[in-house]
Amino acid sequence: MSTRFCSAASLAHGIRFTSRLGHLRFRRASASAGFPLLALVLASAFIAQGLAGAAFASPAKRPGEVEVQWFGHSYFLITSSKGLAVAIDPFDRRVGYPVPKVKADIVAVTHRHFDHDAVGNVAGNPEVLIEPRGERTVKGVAFKGVKTFHDEEGGRARGPNTVICFEVDGIRFCHLGDLGHLLTAQQVREIGRADVLFIPVGGNYTIDASRAADIVTQLKPRIAVPMHYRTARTAPNLALSSVDQFAARFKSTRRVRGNRFSITRAELPKQTWIWIFDAFAR
Ligand SMILES: [Zn+2]
Repeated sequence: MSTRFCSAASLAHGIRFTSRLGHLRFRRASASAGFPLLALVLASAFIAQGLAGAAFASPAKRPGEVEVQWFGHSYFLITSSKGLAVAIDPFDRRVGYPVPKVKADIVAVTHRHFDHDAVGNVAGNPEVLIEPRGERTVKGVAFKGVKTFHDEEGGRARGPNTVICFEVDGIRFCHLGDLGHLLTAQQVREIGRADVLFIPVGGNYTIDASRAADIVTQLKPRIAVPMHYRTARTAPNLALSSVDQFAARFKSTRRVRGNRFSITRAELPKQTWIWIFDAFAR
């Protein structure tokens, strides 16, 4: 049981973290409740861990609650309160992570590389958006694609990249794909508000930790979720750095246990926090 999961900061913040089981949820706990509450939460979490594998009914979603799930690398599934699911940048098995069984209504791809565009691995007959540019509404979700590059040479080394933003339940998500450069003022304006930012930090193929930290400063998201870095599961031939150098640049960092969290618009932190999934860390 990770004590980070139940840190006083996360309890006081009132955000619901969801374990891999998807059923460990902690709601607005008063920081003043102190040790007895923390002990109770730790004990409940411990018991729930012991029940891994037992059948649980899926808990009902609260109004406006969005679930964010990470499958490793740059592959996320965002599910709205009404159950509409957006998959983004699905990989194939060459990346090293297990290929998850994902069903989605929409699948979006930032660029045509195998570690981002395996749309055939997403079930549910989704609407497919490959490098979408400009504004477009799909199945009631407003998308915006902003043209960027996979390198610092205008795409000459690694090609184009699209920053993909979309809004569900009042939360605006932006996925930077394999961004390879700092953003221009124009691109920052085009991207606009990023409540939850998915940002590559592993370097070599993309921006490194230092540039990623600068881009967090440029875009000022409420939550930045690092991606595209080396974990215990990435294929050895992928020359990526770990998340540590990026994490070290921020004071407000939180480890999210497992590979998912749920959040509502009202629960977004007021200032930037870095949330790092600990799935695949070992
Ligand atoms: Zn990539």
